Amino acid sequence: MTGAAMNDTLTKAAVLILLGPPGAGKGTQARMLEETFGLVQLSTGDLLRAAVAAGTEAGLAAKSVMEAGGLVSDEIVLAILKDRMAEPDTTRGVILDGFPRTPGQAEALDALLAEQGLAISAAISMEVDDAAMVARVSGRYTCAQCGEGYHDSFKQPAVAGCCDKCGGTAFKRRADDNAETVGARLTAYHASTAPLIAYYETRGVLRTVDGMGAIDAIAAELGAIVEQVTA
Ligand code: ADP
Ligand code: ADP
Ligand code: ZN
Repeated sequence: MTGAAMNDTLTKAAVLILLGPPGAGKGTQARMLEETFGLVQLSTGDLLRAAVAAGTEAGLAAKSVMEAGGLVSDEIVLAILKDRMAEPDTTRGVILDGFPRTPGQAEALDALLAEQGLAISAAISMEVDDAAMVARVSGRYTCAQCGEGYHDSFKQPAVAGCCDKCGGTAFKRRADDNAETVGARLTAYHASTAPLIAYYETRGVLRTVDGMGAIDAIAAELGAIVEQVTA
């Protein structure tokens, strides 16, 4: 579905949650859904990295936790998420990428959405093998200019060294995308985030996709879910 014309069939604001461990493909798929449906990707990881880069108080508090592969406090994450949700570009709908990550965040999200008269359209669990995650995360890099994601083995630019999306030639890797930190991040995922799968199942909004497939096949599956839950 990459590059397809924007799908204008959505009739109500979509609130999609992408759930999955580091490297599941949440960011990759969120960007594709943005393009296809005009939704806005809200990645708490990206927002936190921006806060770290800007040297804000929240960024200073989050930096060492992120470097160690732990979870930043609910208080900090909720504050940056609320600020971002208040921006006007989110009215058509949002894809929450990497949020919520704890039961406390999930409950706070329910309250925030209720205040705004919104509801979760779907919480989509991207199921992947832990063993594959280290390879996914260790080979990840992004375009420094537009943020498009790539992988050393699984997703290379069509022209080596040149971003498919913007033609940029500078790329970057995250400091926490190394084999040692991935272990801590997976532990945090299983301890704090995986329980949200049952939380959303109870609420009747859980959908599951096989995250081990090809990027385009997963995108097609997610696109079908989005059309279904927002029709
Ligand atoms: P997340 O946001 O869940 O941490 P990303 O979307 O950043 O994950 O994907 C992690 C890495 O794996 C990236 O380098 C991306 O290019 C690659 N990737 C994403 N989806 C797939 C897939 N289905 N198969 C193989 N590699 C993938
Ligand atoms: P990935 O999907 O590869 O795990 P993210 O970019 O989503 O990476 O997150 C990077 C780091 O930012 C996490 O390891 C964690 O320290 C912090 N982080 C991101 N989102 C949250 C969140 N919702 N709650 C707590 N910490 C978060
Ligand atoms: Zn680019």
